[in-house]
Amino acid sequence: MRIPFRDQELEIFPTKIVALAKNYKAHAQEMGGEVPAEPSFFLKPPSSLLSHGGTVILPQNSQRVDYEVELAVVMGQRAKNVSPENSLDFVLGYSLLIDVTARDLQAKAMKEKLPWTISKGFDTFAPFGPRLVPKEELDPFNCEIWLEVNGELKQRGNTCDLVFSVPELVSYISKIMTLEPMDIIATGTPSGVGPLQDGDLVAAGSPSIGVLEVKVKREG
Ligand code: MG
Repeated sequence: MRIPFRDQELEIFPTKIVALAKNYKAHAQEMGGEVPAEPSFFLKPPSSLLSHGGTVILPQNSQRVDYEVELAVVMGQRAKNVSPENSLDFVLGYSLLIDVTARDLQAKAMKEKLPWTISKGFDTFAPFGPRLVPKEELDPFNCEIWLEVNGELKQRGNTCDLVFSVPELVSYISKIMTLEPMDIIATGTPSGVGPLQDGDLVAAGSPSIGVLEVKVKREG
């Protein structure tokens, strides 16, 4: 996908999207759990990416698909075993990602102790944008993010409430899997998640990033 960056358009082909689970205490609680002792994450396929202005397709085999607004970190350099102290040196910039989730399929997977891949992995389940902000222009320790559905505010959070901070996440993940340039880390969602319906208009925003807008349509 192409995304505006400085005064050009950047072609982004991440090898993976790493997404954090329960990285805000209030969201962990609304999901009926506690925050994990160590970062907990899963992968979304790059094929789930959707550009600003695109349409999220609600799959026929799910009756409950949720929005989750998240600050997204985009890597600039290959990072392997980096420390939290210098992990931000490997970051290119930031954007917004909506971690669209088939909540009913996720609940079924959790009950059967199966992975979340299906519930998180449908095409269009990762709206991303509207632009990539250079890392110097955003403070990852104090970044407000919000989400509206049809003009109604549903989520408002700040990365100052992250359980594991951006430099901690980059470091932790890099000790497990090499982070490649353009790889995306979705840092987790604040509280207020809820369902999407056919015909909804979703806007996700952050003061220094802008507003990411997508439509919602039922498959078929
Ligand atoms: Mg999420």
